[in-house]
Amino acid sequence: MSVLRFPPGAIDALDHRRRCFLWSGEDSVSGAQCLVAWERPCQPKEQGGLGIKDLTTQNTSLLLKLLHRLYHPGDSAWGAGCAPKLIWSLCKATSFWLDRWCTAGRFADLFPLLFTHVVDEEASVAAVVQNGLANQLVPRLTRAAREEVQDRIQCRSNLFRKGIVEDVACAICGGNEDCDHVVLSCPFATQVRRGLGAGTEGVSAKTIWTVVRPTTIASKHYDCFLLLVCWMLWKHRNGVVFNSESPSLARFWRSCRDEARLWGHRLPPQDREVAEAWCCVFSST
Ligand SMILES: [Zn+2]
Repeated sequence: MSVLRFPPGAIDALDHRRRCFLWSGEDSVSGAQCLVAWERPCQPKEQGGLGIKDLTTQNTSLLLKLLHRLYHPGDSAWGAGCAPKLIWSLCKATSFWLDRWCTAGRFADLFPLLFTHVVDEEASVAAVVQNGLANQLVPRLTRAAREEVQDRIQCRSNLFRKGIVEDVACAICGGNEDCDHVVLSCPFATQVRRGLGAGTEGVSAKTIWTVVRPTTIASKHYDCFLLLVCWMLWKHRNGVVFNSESPSLARFWRSCRDEARLWGHRLPPQDREVAEAWCCVFSST
């Protein structure tokens, strides 16, 4: 009773047994044998009852006592040893993102965008506490961006080579859409480059890392910044191709800002201001 909350049915069964003992001394008792309502003998003696404990109240009180010991263990073996172990084992068995262990709801539902960057969706609460939330989030998009740089993305020239599309025309400008075009030479990408003040002369997609850093961008995590812009150019292009969206610089910068805020969670805590600075650049461009 001091460890588990008794179900109402169990309390009723115990009360029945106690009523039988009190009024008949047998295994059963009829209503006629009960001289007063059960609540009456449950009253304290000084109030005219027999001081029989109310089991529901007793159960709740004992559980609260256990909880109190957890925070103030003193000499209690339970508070000092058992309870932390029990809680830790529960943490190990509970999914940080998918289980509803917080009253506000499942973290996967509360933070859907962040959830898309999670490494291990099944990570336990214990794993997140031990390793830190930052280690649960990876630059998942980095791989796509890296593929972009390595000319493996499914731009139209690649799809044309595979016989999937009939032409190589860029959906934004009508030019020959290869990897270089998407991130560098498409007029839309050129506007982005001008907006950032980045020097891309002599740069190809494979050497995107050599893009001259604008003075407004911090040197720290600059490679990450380049990946972010490349990735957003690719996403913008996909929006035009697959969702029939119109090319829009304003929408592009907005998306960059939102994405930068998200990517900031993957940077070490002391470097978060770098991502905030990116957001400011995207907002003012
Ligand atoms: Zn183009």
